[in-house]
Amino acid sequence: MTATLDVTACVIGAGPVGATLAATLAAAGLTTAVVDRAPLPPMELPEFDGRAYAIALTSQRLLAAAGIWDRLPEMPQAIRRIRVADGRPGAPPSRLKLDFDAAEIAHGEAFGWMVEARALRVALNARLPALPNLHAFAPATAEVTRHADGAEIRLAAGPLIRARLVVGAEGRESPLRAQAGIPVTRWDYGQVGMVGAFAHARPHEGTALEMFLPNGPFAQLPLAGPGGFGTAELPHASAYVWSERTALARRFLALDDARFGRELARRLGDHLGAIRPIGRRWSYPLSALWAERFTDTRMALVGDAAHGIHPIAGQGLNLGFRDVAALAECVIEAEAAGEDPGAPAVLARYQARARPDAMLMLGATHALERLFGTDFAPVRLARRLGIAAVDRIPALKRAFAERAMGMKPGQAGLLGGQGLLPR
Ligand SMILES: Cc1cc2nc3c(=O)[nH]c(=O)nc-3n(C[C@H](O)[C@H](O)[C@H](O)COP(=O)(O)OP(=O)(O)OC[C@H]3O[C@@H](n4cnc5c(N)ncnc54)[C@H](O)[C@@H]3O)c2cc1C
Repeated sequence: MTATLDVTACVIGAGPVGATLAATLAAAGLTTAVVDRAPLPPMELPEFDGRAYAIALTSQRLLAAAGIWDRLPEMPQAIRRIRVADGRPGAPPSRLKLDFDAAEIAHGEAFGWMVEARALRVALNARLPALPNLHAFAPATAEVTRHADGAEIRLAAGPLIRARLVVGAEGRESPLRAQAGIPVTRWDYGQVGMVGAFAHARPHEGTALEMFLPNGPFAQLPLAGPGGFGTAELPHASAYVWSERTALARRFLALDDARFGRELARRLGDHLGAIRPIGRRWSYPLSALWAERFTDTRMALVGDAAHGIHPIAGQGLNLGFRDVAALAECVIEAEAAGEDPGAPAVLARYQARARPDAMLMLGATHALERLFGTDFAPVRLARRLGIAAVDRIPALKRAFAERAMGMKPGQAGLLGGQGLLPR
């Protein structure tokens, strides 16, 4: 006879968003299951994912509340300054630039932290088994049936899970979203995001640089250190996220390290002194995705299953964490009020909280990509003047900086640093 497991929520997909949601719900005292088709330990290996995430202040607060932040294996690098400039490969960045300094506009708080995907995974993998009311199944394939009264999740091997809510956190190709017949809109940017790290001679001083180049944005993001890759001449390290037209990106990716490093330097400029690429290069085709609804009977979508955005502002995962905070708060509040956490009214509240936020971010990143992805001289001049104008208007500058930190006026709850209220 198959054993049954009754849970409040079953999260399908234990990526950074799904695993954080599962940990948050379980830390709040709710019995939770999480299922991933892939085994979790290998996700910690350096060869699994080369990304380093810029984690906004609000996301850091959520990770702290879920007991994940304290389990990071190394101290993340704080982002203390952000510089935005328009540029062209081989030419110095425009002098009309936008500089944000956390000491001036963030009351001394960092804008965010650079956390390697691998390090976040180590913390998640340490947190999940430490929660007694969290049941993780990975690798496992799940067959989900949903109806008005609840959901059943059948695993190829393991108990029959009965949940009041099932959450689709399986990333961009979400089978739950497809099963629910939720239409999606997709845009292909015709670009590839090249990701990796480089060692450099001069210190970065916690500065992140966002350069808008004609073929796509180029970001340099400060890292805590080059690990075993450092030398006496190149003792510092940064990550790069370099978006380039697909055909050109393929050519760059085929270059040896010395030539690739020269191309990197042509975009970066010389403010960090000599540079040398370190570790592996990674590449991701860039597209945007938008699900028409974030909910269906007994189901909610979170993270990339609901929306995918261009990495131009490094906000994709942060947006997923905003979904986590919104859904966790709706479910926790429903439970505390004796309401059914998978009821249509609760799901409607989640959608009302999460969707406008996501739509705004999708729209903003899409518009930025379009505006900055052109080399048409009048447009280039207008955006350079626009950047310089924002730099001179403190209130506008503060508003931009707060957005980068994920802050909204009167931000409360998990993103506002209030933690999990005891039930
Ligand atoms: C080049 C690049 C740079 C980026 N940089 C940043 C950044 O600096 N900051 C930032 O905030 N974001 C960034 N992002 C975005 C970020 O990487 C994504 O938003 C984030 O990974 C989404 O997490 P997720 O958990 O929703 O989905 P995923 O990471 O895709 O995880 C999905 C999980 O579901 C599992 N799964 C899939 N199908 C099934 C199934 N049928 N059953 C069970 N499990 C399943 C998978 O094994 C996986 O573990 C970047 C993206 C790119 C491409």
